[in-house]
Amino acid sequence: MLMKEILDQGRISLSFEFFPPKTPTGWERLFENIADLSPLAPSSVSVTYGAGGTTRSQTHELVLRIHKETGITVVPHQTCVAATRGDVTAILSEYEQIGIENVLALRGDPPQDDPDWTPPQDGFHHAIDLVKFIRERFPRFSIGVAGFPEGHPEMPNRLLEIDYLKQKVDAGADYIVTQLFFDNRDFYDFCERCRLAGITVPIIAGIMPLRTRQGMLRMAELAAGARFPAALLKRVAEAEHDEEVECIGTEWAIEQVKDLVAHQVSGIHFYTLNSATATCEIFSRLGLC
Ligand SMILES: Cc1cc2nc3c(=O)[nH]c(=O)nc-3n(C[C@H](O)[C@H](O)[C@H](O)COP(=O)(O)OP(=O)(O)OC[C@H]3O[C@@H](n4cnc5c(N)ncnc54)[C@H](O)[C@@H]3O)c2cc1C
Repeated sequence: MLMKEILDQGRISLSFEFFPPKTPTGWERLFENIADLSPLAPSSVSVTYGAGGTTRSQTHELVLRIHKETGITVVPHQTCVAATRGDVTAILSEYEQIGIENVLALRGDPPQDDPDWTPPQDGFHHAIDLVKFIRERFPRFSIGVAGFPEGHPEMPNRLLEIDYLKQKVDAGADYIVTQLFFDNRDFYDFCERCRLAGITVPIIAGIMPLRTRQGMLRMAELAAGARFPAALLKRVAEAEHDEEVECIGTEWAIEQVKDLVAHQVSGIHFYTLNSATATCEIFSRLGLC
């Protein structure tokens, strides 16, 4: 089903994100977790794609298996930072043939160790170029794009950033999925700034339950500078071990999701890290299934 149609149904869309595992054991565990998550009847699931095209075949395999084995609507992520138009055409043509009709169009991050890096010839500079290309070449696809409630680290000018997001939507995106956040006020403020700028498409909130202290440090580094509210940091600091951190993270996410549901958001996207535990707990505690 097209994401555009799912979001038009007027119900809160609930989606789960997975990444292609690196080992055979990881694949086995992921499909056990997908089996646990399937009864929650998500509106869709999404599969990440390595920025440099590193997971091209694994992303394709995971998209194909979920599509065939579960019948759940799958949204492949597609980054363009190291891709040519030929690469994107080949990948999306294969998806089109097997009945995939959605894509999350992203730029990805350029290699950090190469400050002079430029896109390949016949490549893309920003996600907007990918959106325009897909809209023209694959007009039936429903296209999602990324949004950053706390701001994207490369763009200090928050006014210009929303202008660029508006341009990305005007180029043909049907919806926005946000980077994870831990303070819902950041999300509501972002939505309001989008609406003020004339962005009217649905905005899906990205939620990632915290699991370990180490994970929190990694998130701070990688996830476009996730801001951890003091109240959350205080609880984590008082925890004696990671099991306690996981409970704190799940409780925090439950409160976030409860509040988002009360605000009747368009959708909630769970960054599952390939694990069913926290997401199942959130769904069962909030009666979402
Ligand atoms: C929901 C979600 C899923 C993600 N999935 C993946 C994934 O699967 N694989 C992966 O590698 N990464 C993924 N990312 C991370 C993402 O690729 C990076 O954060 C990347 O740096 C930004 O991608 P973008 O699509 O927002 O890029 P863009 O929209 O191109 O924006 C990148 C930067 O350029 C600025 N900008 C935009 N247009 C212009 C312009 N015309 N001129 C100057 N500056 C401009 C923007 O303000 C921003 O600072 C995901 C992020 C999110 C939120």
